[in-house]
Amino acid sequence: MQDSYNVVIVGSGPAGLTAAIYAARAQLDPLVIEGEPSSTSDQPGGQLMLTTEVENYPGFVDGIMGPELMDTLRKQASRFGAQFLPGKVLSISNPSSPFEIFTTASPAPLTARSVIIATGAKPVMLGLENEDKLLGHGVSTCATCDGFFFREKEIAVVGGGDSALEEALFLTRFATTVHLIHRRHELRASKIMQQRAFDNKKIVIHWNSIVTRLFGDVSLSEIELTDTTDQHTEQLSVEGLFVAIGHTPNTSIFRDTIDMDSDGYIATHNGTYTNIEGVFACGDVQDRVYRQAITSAGSGCMAAIDCERWLAEQ
Ligand code: NAP
Repeated sequence: MQDSYNVVIVGSGPAGLTAAIYAARAQLDPLVIEGEPSSTSDQPGGQLMLTTEVENYPGFVDGIMGPELMDTLRKQASRFGAQFLPGKVLSISNPSSPFEIFTTASPAPLTARSVIIATGAKPVMLGLENEDKLLGHGVSTCATCDGFFFREKEIAVVGGGDSALEEALFLTRFATTVHLIHRRHELRASKIMQQRAFDNKKIVIHWNSIVTRLFGDVSLSEIELTDTTDQHTEQLSVEGLFVAIGHTPNTSIFRDTIDMDSDGYIATHNGTYTNIEGVFACGDVQDRVYRQAITSAGSGCMAAIDCERWLAEQ
């Protein structure tokens, strides 16, 4: 592994890997810093590693499993010469090109003429007392990872978007009942997902409800729901709670250098350019509107093209 690169791509979800395919085919010899294995969305492969079937990625008539799609994209990038470094970026020290990148992989920094940030987003948590303690002990953010543990059990999913419904539908394979807890009286998810949830006899929807307390010493045993219309509370005996209430961008390490909005999404202009010359951003880290695998992949392609042109101008 060399220590100086034309382009370092940070993140290995659809955006990072598509940027890697394009940068590698442009003979820029990119290095992808791909993250560290974990159960969260900043692991190698990103959020799709925590997904079951992806039905809406063009080109797959019968759908494809999220991890399989990511494996295919990685192999495709590798085929054209992209290199991969397992690890996380700790900081990017120089304010201008060439950048010095410190990672968890080695004490010595890497040098890069340009950087493509594709660090994605991670799940938002409820912020309740006990939540951290019970994470992995009944509380989860990943149905595909943990659903199997809840065979013949009663469980709950919180959220009303596509993620929550996807999780709820998947969990009906294992659980006896899936309680869907949503804070409003209508779901945010796409109509097709809503219809599937309404049609599934195992899913019980609790409208206008929020989770206000978690109970359990060693593992989750009960949750408290509060009705948002009249504030009355009820206890629900569930052994699992899957939190699917959205995501927050993985941008904390860039906070002091890269311009971002109040929620931490990186600000881009003219495609994928950031405020720092030679640094580009793509995927969920800069997209608060579309947030689809295919739009992430598309912006990864844009970032590689922007980066290639910028390097050619230097
Ligand atoms: P999302 O669309 O932002 O939905 C988040 C849900 O959580 C909303 O229903 C929201 O309620 C609720 N929520 C937020 N904060 C909450 C809190 N503190 N307490 C209780 N509920 C809270 O996020 P997402 O479902 O993760 O989806 C993100 C994007 O990925 C979307 O564009 C989605 O379409 C896409 N996606 C697509 C697929 C697919 O096509 N197969 C699968 C998954 C995700 P409100 O509705 O009241 O705001």
